[in-house]
Amino acid sequence: MTRFRFSIRARLTLFIMAFVTIVVGVAVSGVLTLRSVDLKTKEIDQKWLAATATLAEIADRISEYRIAEGYRALAPGPSGREEAEVLANGHRREIQKLQNSYVTLLGDDAQSADLDSFRTAWNAYSTEHDAWVQSDFEGALENAERHNQLLQRLYKSADLAVDRLIATNTSAAHAQVRAVDLLTDRSVTIAIAVSAVSILLAMWLLIRVRTQITYPLEAITQALSKLAAGNRDIRVPELQRADEIGAMAKAFEIFRTNALALEHAHKATRAAQEQVHSLARHDALTGLPNRRVFSAELQAILTGAPRGTVPYWVLLVGLDQFKRINDLQGQPFGDTVLCEIARRLERIVRNSGTVARLGGDEFAIIAKGDVTQQIDLDGARDLARKVLSAIRKPILVGERSVELGASIGIAPCHKDSTDAESLLHAADVAMYRAKRDSRGAFRFFEQSMDDDIRAQESLETDLKRAVAEGAIKPFYQPLVEIRNNRICGFEALARWEHPERGFVPPDLFIPVIEQLGLMTDLTSSVLRQACRDAKYWPEDIRLSVNISPSELKDPLLPSRLLAILAEQGFPAARLDVEIIETALVSDIETAKSILTTLQSAGIKVCLDDFGTGYSSLYHLRELKFDKVKIDRSFVQSMVNNPESEKIVDAILGLTKSLNLPTVAEGIEHLPVLLRLAAKGCEFGQGYYFGKAMTADSARDMLMERTVIQMRITEAQHAA
Ligand code: C2E
Ligand code: CA
Ligand code: CA
Repeated sequence: MTRFRFSIRARLTLFIMAFVTIVVGVAVSGVLTLRSVDLKTKEIDQKWLAATATLAEIADRISEYRIAEGYRALAPGPSGREEAEVLANGHRREIQKLQNSYVTLLGDDAQSADLDSFRTAWNAYSTEHDAWVQSDFEGALENAERHNQLLQRLYKSADLAVDRLIATNTSAAHAQVRAVDLLTDRSVTIAIAVSAVSILLAMWLLIRVRTQITYPLEAITQALSKLAAGNRDIRVPELQRADEIGAMAKAFEIFRTNALALEHAHKATRAAQEQVHSLARHDALTGLPNRRVFSAELQAILTGAPRGTVPYWVLLVGLDQFKRINDLQGQPFGDTVLCEIARRLERIVRNSGTVARLGGDEFAIIAKGDVTQQIDLDGARDLARKVLSAIRKPILVGERSVELGASIGIAPCHKDSTDAESLLHAADVAMYRAKRDSRGAFRFFEQSMDDDIRAQESLETDLKRAVAEGAIKPFYQPLVEIRNNRICGFEALARWEHPERGFVPPDLFIPVIEQLGLMTDLTSSVLRQACRDAKYWPEDIRLSVNISPSELKDPLLPSRLLAILAEQGFPAARLDVEIIETALVSDIETAKSILTTLQSAGIKVCLDDFGTGYSSLYHLRELKFDKVKIDRSFVQSMVNNPESEKIVDAILGLTKSLNLPTVAEGIEHLPVLLRLAAKGCEFGQGYYFGKAMTADSARDMLMERTVIQMRITEAQHAA
């Protein structure tokens, strides 16, 4: 394709100007030709035709002249001759005038040779006429005939000369006409040629316009239509051109790339929106529908199906002890486990129901029962068993394998079910019952369970308030030095007396407080009150407080405890903290650091309930305890159960070898005390010495402590 340096406008202007010039040229030359033809025609008309007419008139006058001569010849008298002569002379003057006007008309073009011969003939004739008139006048009649003959002959030759002149003149006129014809023909030929050239030029222009403007514009328009139709992959044509079409193509190309960028941005936005939407609907980890979607679907089933005919079950699946796996193996491991469980559940339910992850370690299933059954208990049972056995299969994560259990609560969509939330709640209640009764099982929801839950909720509400208000008070159980029966300290045990519930045992409320996450508050409250009470005890009397397992994960525990001691002015050296060994399993490093900090402040650390945990020896080696407390289950039964006594012996052997003082708790009777004394157990605690009592009672007891000491010693001796 030809490249142009000029713009389309310049080129078009040039083309049009050339075209217009040609057309105007043709028109002007046509007009000029016409004008010259017209002039020539006029000339022929005014010069040659007039000349011919003049000659014709001369010929006529000569004839008239001859006739006048005849008149004269035939006239009877002199007056007639005179008259005829006047006539003849008139013709003669006229002929002279006509001759002059002929010469004037033609100028140089006058036919001189023929004109001269006419003039000669005419002069000869008129001279002879004059001679005839003269002779007649003299009366020479005998000469009349001779003159007549001579005049006739001269007249003829003059007439002939005029005719010749006319003929010559006519042919000259013809020559002029032919010249005009030639000019006309040439002009027409030129006009046709110029028109042909113009037409060719116009066609060329048209073709150029089509190839250079129309076709490119069509191509651009087509490309734009495709662009408008959503095809962003097109190539805008004519981009390489340097003119307006090139500029337009470039503008469209920019538009196209912008549209493309915009579309990409739009797609990205849409993808992000979809992702947000999907995130709002799905659990990000497992990709399962989330609680919201599950509830909505359940609600739709409840609303859409006719009452009482919905054979659906809601199964709530809670993984057992998943938290432990997460704590011990790390969160990524836990995530993989959750994903695998999700896949297994999906495989079981397939298209017959919905699986969702409600959060944490809880999954839920909507399952359709057998439509033919009024209540399809068997179907629900089968499904629950399938789920349990699928979850129980070992899960392999990298090199590690883990085995998991689950508890399932099942709630039916029965005819009274109206809202999804209450159904989910029912399944939840049943699941907690399953967990509580025996992990790894399933339970159907029963109304009584719900009552329990409501009772639990009310307990929780009361407990929250009790902790906040400091209504949970420490009671004090004495600790005795077995060697001399001296009261050497008290263990602070939490007591909650509710206005309606009465005394609620700590075994019942401590786990709830733990669950509510209020353990830190309770410990602080109990320690604060205990320090306040113990401040007034004799200086050799120690105070023991219990620290809950959950608190041993909190690195701020030592600073919190020490702050309370400082605030209450109670010396750290008189405080023991008792720790149940299950607390130590999950994060041994944090526990170690907490214990070391407490010990470096002067607090003694006692390992509580020793013998009941499964890694007691490991803990004894890893952590530097100051004391060990043998669990009361062994002590209570050691008199009647030799196995228990063997365990107590073993523990005492171990602690002695480690140089650790030992406390035996649960001493209810004197024989147990005697045996423990014989075995060299350093400290004792139990109903035999006293139950947990109020601060006032503890104070009273301390005042009588020598009496008590003596009474116990006497009883010992007596036994
Ligand atoms: P524990 O720390 O092992 O406390 C000793 C428990 O044994 C107390 O039960 C006490 O009343 C009981 N006991 C003491 N001597 C005898 C006896 O001769 N026979 C029998 N049958 N029982 C005896 P209590 O007060 O019901 O406390 C139960 C558990 O509650 C405690 O076990 C402890 O783990 C927890 N607990 C109590 N108070 C607190 C507290 O303030 N903080 C924390 N973290 N836990 C507490
Ligand atoms: Ca204790
Ligand atoms: Ca204990």
